[in-house]
Amino acid sequence: MPALELAEPDSLDEAFALLADDDAVRPMGGGTALMLMMKAQLFRPAKLVSLRRIASLAGFALIEGGTHIRIGAMTTFSQLEHSELIAEHLPVVTQTMKTLANVRVRNVASVGGNLAHGDPHLDLPPVWSALGASIRIEGAGVERIIAAEDLFLGYYETALAQGELITDILVPLRPGWRFFYAKVTTRAEHDWPALGLCVGVHAQGSTIENVSLVLSAAVDKPTRLTGAEDVLRGAELSDAALEAAADAALAEVHIESDGRGSAAYKRQLLRVHLARAVRHVMQGSASA
Ligand SMILES: Cc1cc2nc3c(=O)[nH]c(=O)nc-3n(C[C@H](O)[C@H](O)[C@H](O)COP(=O)(O)OP(=O)(O)OC[C@H]3O[C@@H](n4cnc5c(N)ncnc54)[C@H](O)[C@@H]3O)c2cc1C
Repeated sequence: MPALELAEPDSLDEAFALLADDDAVRPMGGGTALMLMMKAQLFRPAKLVSLRRIASLAGFALIEGGTHIRIGAMTTFSQLEHSELIAEHLPVVTQTMKTLANVRVRNVASVGGNLAHGDPHLDLPPVWSALGASIRIEGAGVERIIAAEDLFLGYYETALAQGELITDILVPLRPGWRFFYAKVTTRAEHDWPALGLCVGVHAQGSTIENVSLVLSAAVDKPTRLTGAEDVLRGAELSDAALEAAADAALAEVHIESDGRGSAAYKRQLLRVHLARAVRHVMQGSASA
């Protein structure tokens, strides 16, 4: 078996130099996805570059006068799960953590590694998209910020180029909005979802003034349901409006079959859970 080197740079510049133009060198966050991919021989890196010593990738805080939260790429899921700041300002993230994997994974898995992995079944990416988050990507001489939904190009495919790293996520706080992530599993509640749906609403009484709907797990990448959003935006909450939104959603996406359900089953899940999740969030039992 070929030797595997581990590098642990202290700075981003050092990491960029190690990663430059060599696809046998891979960055490592918590290593939870990477190790599985290596065991399955999907990746055979010669060197791993651990990001855990890079101080600028750690931590999270309110920024820009309290209008956004910046989350460093090496923040672990457990740190988010147990944070009062996150519970107060982004309770949908706290809610999502409760059924994401298990405590051993949450203790080491990182926000950046989770995004870069590009698996459409992951629970957090649709949440970041629905919240309107942006992702900062950096490389040697490169810095760009893209919308979370633009990071995903397809099944395990992202907009990251060789040598680029996700360095942080910028999440806007959206006063008056309420969000809820529906994780629909067919076995245990901590299992991988057959369908994931993050719903955000800004409502006045029973009028849906604005809405954000992002579907995952049943599609090849987290996907905004713009047609369904258009149906619901400005509508009174009603069975008819929810039926019309589900029709629009089903017309605009290609639902995929996988080990957790056939496409026909997932289409039915989308119809049922879109209505349930919108009703749930309209009742105010979830908040942004
Ligand atoms: C037993 C088990 C159960 C799970 N259940 C769930 C579940 O229910 N729901 C769910 O959503 N997820 C689940 N997961 C997946 C888990 O969320 C991911 O494995 C994890 O988020 C990946 O993060 P990481 O930091 O460990 O990434 P790593 O494994 O370190 O990296 C993943 C990929 O991203 C790259 N990378 C890492 N960091 C960066 C960076 N900052 N910039 C650019 N590229 C980077 C790596 O090179 C690799 O390609 C489960 C995983 C396991 C092992």
